[in-house]
Amino acid sequence: MRIKLHWQILIALLLAVIAGRLSGTDGTLLGIPLYPVYVFIGALFMNALKMLIVPLIMSSIITGVAGIGDSRGLGRLGGKTLLFYMTTSLLAILIGLLFVNLLNPGIVNGEPARQVLGLSQEAAALATEKVQGRSASDLTDVFLSMVPPNVVAAAADGQMLGLIFFSLLFGFFMTRIDKETGSLLGRFWQGVADVMMGITTLIMKFAPLGVFGLVAKTVAGIGPEQLDDLAVSLGTFTLSVLLALAVHVLVTLPLMLIFVARVNPLRHYKAMMPALLTAFSTASSSATLPLTMECVQDNAKVSTRTSSFVLPLGATVNMDGTALYECVAAMFIAQAYGLELSLTTQFTVVLVALLTSVGVAGIPAASLVAITIILTTIGLPAEAIGLILAVDRILDMFRTSVNVFSDSCGAVIIARSEGEQGILKG
Ligand code: ASP
Repeated sequence: MRIKLHWQILIALLLAVIAGRLSGTDGTLLGIPLYPVYVFIGALFMNALKMLIVPLIMSSIITGVAGIGDSRGLGRLGGKTLLFYMTTSLLAILIGLLFVNLLNPGIVNGEPARQVLGLSQEAAALATEKVQGRSASDLTDVFLSMVPPNVVAAAADGQMLGLIFFSLLFGFFMTRIDKETGSLLGRFWQGVADVMMGITTLIMKFAPLGVFGLVAKTVAGIGPEQLDDLAVSLGTFTLSVLLALAVHVLVTLPLMLIFVARVNPLRHYKAMMPALLTAFSTASSSATLPLTMECVQDNAKVSTRTSSFVLPLGATVNMDGTALYECVAAMFIAQAYGLELSLTTQFTVVLVALLTSVGVAGIPAASLVAITIILTTIGLPAEAIGLILAVDRILDMFRTSVNVFSDSCGAVIIARSEGEQGILKG
């Protein structure tokens, strides 16, 4: 009997934790150092996934947009997709805000935790000086990157927003040129999309091995001091993030699945398991995209028409876990610095978290850049980000899974609203 893929990945994940803990960074087996082996396997798997991103995003968005056809259909689907993405990201941020205000991770014994966390006085003084806010120039960068001056460079540099924008336009105008040329192009991009899915199926077979390498490497690299950090000073912060993520993934999104899409959330978790575990191990929603598409199409039975439009967009634009994390992290650092958290400041944090989460790339640790934007916007020094680095990787694994899960819920809900039958049946 063949073991199902998600079980294989789960077993690999558990074995990786054990192997990583036992070997650390210097363990050997039969004289062979293990850490470089983990790094190699993990990098090979990540490369294989990343290799697909550019052609996959381009081909699926182009065929997706062209498949929707008329501009009214496109406007409707695009509108719904953006509405869903913005709503769930906002809900996620508000849940994060609630938990960070309830648990106050930045306050220890009634005092801002900057001493406990080893923040320097000068940095703190600098913080108060800069409280008066900053220009929004960093945010305009997000919008500027949506229209790239060079689409090839955008693809090469992983500027996915630019690539998406170009592909949306390409798909739209492909249906508006001479019929014969248009359909030739259409068949070409459809072929590219199909081939990418074929390669994905192959790469998926290696997912357990890749997951093993990635997770063993991460676990082996966690030193005792990081565990201390995790347990003592950063414990409440970690807890706030994890609880908030859990509420979003176990309450908010399932409720939407039940009441908006009328599907059984348990079935959806099961359908998405290989993608969720891969997201957890790779900490990259872009790299997980091929698997997300395969799970949504083959297991959840959402049409390619909907999924090839909603998912590539979601992998870049819709990051609930990231948005939530940005909010909790920025609030935590602000608390630790003793910054007065007026309603206006909190509102600023929410708004900037929402906007920057759109621009955050689906790669590991990408939130950190967005958090420095929030910090400077509310007048804290960007270096304060150092506070959370010790626990960032672990939290990245969780928030990336939440990002991917939310995209997949979007695909199901939007497919249902488009009248698709048979989703998550059988
Ligand atoms: N690693 C996240 C992702 O790929 C982005 C982030 O929050 O750092 O979805």
